[in-house]
Amino acid sequence: MADYVVRATAAKEQIRAFSITSKEMTEYARKAHDTSPVVTAALGRTMAAASMMGTMMKSPTDVMTIQLMGAGPMKSLTVTSDVAGNVKGFAANPQVILPAKNGKLDVGGAIGMGVLRVIRDLGLKEPYVGTVELKTGEVAEDLTYYFATSEQTPSSVGLGVLMTPDNTVDVAGGFIVQLMPDTTDEVIDRLEENIKKLEPVTTMLKNGMTPEDMLSTVLEGLELCITDKSNVGFVCDCSRERVHRSLSALGVEDLNSILEDDKPVEVRCQFCNKDYQFSLDEIRKILSARKEKISSSGGEEQ
Ligand SMILES: [Zn+2]
Repeated sequence: MADYVVRATAAKEQIRAFSITSKEMTEYARKAHDTSPVVTAALGRTMAAASMMGTMMKSPTDVMTIQLMGAGPMKSLTVTSDVAGNVKGFAANPQVILPAKNGKLDVGGAIGMGVLRVIRDLGLKEPYVGTVELKTGEVAEDLTYYFATSEQTPSSVGLGVLMTPDNTVDVAGGFIVQLMPDTTDEVIDRLEENIKKLEPVTTMLKNGMTPEDMLSTVLEGLELCITDKSNVGFVCDCSRERVHRSLSALGVEDLNSILEDDKPVEVRCQFCNKDYQFSLDEIRKILSARKEKISSSGGEEQ
């Protein structure tokens, strides 16, 4: 089943909700970055959340990034989403191995004490940045805290990644349920009751529940209304042209030192781990184009 996000409202728009199945993007990231199980879980949970949160944005050029930075061995995690909910992401240290904690992958231990940052680039002069301290480093709790404090939106966030015995991704996904201002107490009580009874996301997905099924369960008795469904995936926008452009922007000195090394250049995209190779001949061409540009503008390098 391809990954997809559903968006919904409930209780006559007093609630908005999102749900995702994200096994494919998580398995893609696992393979691309050769991540250990605990890092796969951390990255998978964050990608599921980022994909849902991406679809909360309005304009087609909006970009959102979730960053977790901590004192644990994984160091940091970065996931970016566009408005369609397509994501890309990586961990600073993808190969962390930790003993299980309470029979589960110790995601909180991998990230450690630190901060969660949500960066929204909405095409304004400055991106909007919200930073909160990590509560548990388990991602869902941290995002719940972020929504409450940084966006003043009471939310319930459930995220989960389950690995197979041979450490590929079995199921992945989650949900975000948010209360809009002026939600009545009756609605809040009912939602709290539902959440108390709720099984973990991995159990629901493993039992074959779809994102729609998960929302029907979380929002039982609250007049769920699914408003939108869209396919999402791991999508990186890097390309050879883009890397060429960034090499062309290097200074003459940097390009000269690359040539002095006398080895073809390898540039790796940190988001998808794709390798781009440039021969010394190509670097020489870039350098001469750079010199020409400098002499024709008649001035020093900027
Ligand atoms: Zn890439």
